[in-house]
Amino acid sequence: MYGASEGLRTVLLDAASFGGQAGTSSRIENYLGFPAGLSGAELATRGAVQAEKFGVRLHRNARAAAFGTRAGRHCVTLEDGRVFKARDVIIATGAEYRRLNVPGIGAWEGNGVHYAATVAEAQHVEGRPVAVVGGANSAGQAAMFLSRTSEPVHLLVRGDDLERSMSRYLIDAIRANPKIDVRVRTEAVGLVADSAVTGIEVVDWATGGRSLLEVGAVFVFIGATPCTSWLQGQLATDRDGFLLTGHDLDEHRTGERAPLPFETSEPGVFCVGDVRSGSVKRVATAVGEGSAAVRLVFERRRIDGAELL
Ligand SMILES: Cc1cc2nc3c(=O)[nH]c(=O)nc-3n(C[C@H](O)[C@H](O)[C@H](O)COP(=O)(O)OP(=O)(O)OC[C@H]3O[C@@H](n4cnc5c(N)ncnc54)[C@H](O)[C@@H]3O)c2cc1C
Repeated sequence: MYGASEGLRTVLLDAASFGGQAGTSSRIENYLGFPAGLSGAELATRGAVQAEKFGVRLHRNARAAAFGTRAGRHCVTLEDGRVFKARDVIIATGAEYRRLNVPGIGAWEGNGVHYAATVAEAQHVEGRPVAVVGGANSAGQAAMFLSRTSEPVHLLVRGDDLERSMSRYLIDAIRANPKIDVRVRTEAVGLVADSAVTGIEVVDWATGGRSLLEVGAVFVFIGATPCTSWLQGQLATDRDGFLLTGHDLDEHRTGERAPLPFETSEPGVFCVGDVRSGSVKRVATAVGEGSAAVRLVFERRRIDGAELL
């Protein structure tokens, strides 16, 4: 939408329909301008209409399968063989959050089962117990944050201890927090819900015993896989596979100039949203980065002397 509204001939390719992860959310309550919240599906539909209004050519079911650059032109090849050539590319292929292997959990995602812990999610379970699943920093930070408004916060860790995967300062803060109940060698195996999530069934692998924890919500932080396989390793990534941009790149692949913010290791290829290393995983951030990247497309064409449209 920002590309087309700034006068760039813009093509949008999406492997599925539009909306990405946000499209699966039953209610987004922290997007500016919608104080009553709106469903992810509604936000996606509105976005597609708005993009079309400015002349974006939208392609659904258009999964990118390969990428290449030749003579200053970037080529995105779809799995059905179609090839799209462009002077600049903005990658926003997101990430897939690892889901808990618990029967029926999908039906409660965004409604009692969350992959983010912000004020919006926390206020729905204020004063009630919650479970946080995961043993790395994101789970630890979520547990600390939720402990401000919920008690107890059961931190369910599959491994033997926190030391292997969490920063020392966070471990110390968690151990000193009486509201957080750390359970190691513990795995979530079942969800209890009728009209809302009311509990989680866990197995303690030290004893093999099962127990039911009463919780109003479950927060899952067991990692995310960036959707970058189609790039076949051609762009620089961090050790988890998220695309590096701007200052985070040691040197530009061509070595001719430093990368611009949101620019990947390939000049003229930008990256925004959840697939970007170090990104803040929010709808507003993904949208804002997208609009900034369009501005930087103009900047890079000015610097590189590339043809404008
Ligand atoms: C259940 C749920 C609820 C959430 N609720 C909130 C909330 O209330 N507030 C908030 O701020 N954030 C929320 N988030 C997080 C937010 O949705 C994400 O941060 C945001 O959607 C990231 O946008 P993105 O464009 O970077 O990636 P994504 O939303 O992941 O979109 C990526 C898109 O790229 C497409 N794609 C992937 N691979 C390819 C390929 N090879 N070729 C073509 N297309 C491809 C996908 O089909 C998808 O449409 C929620 C996330 C989930 C899962």
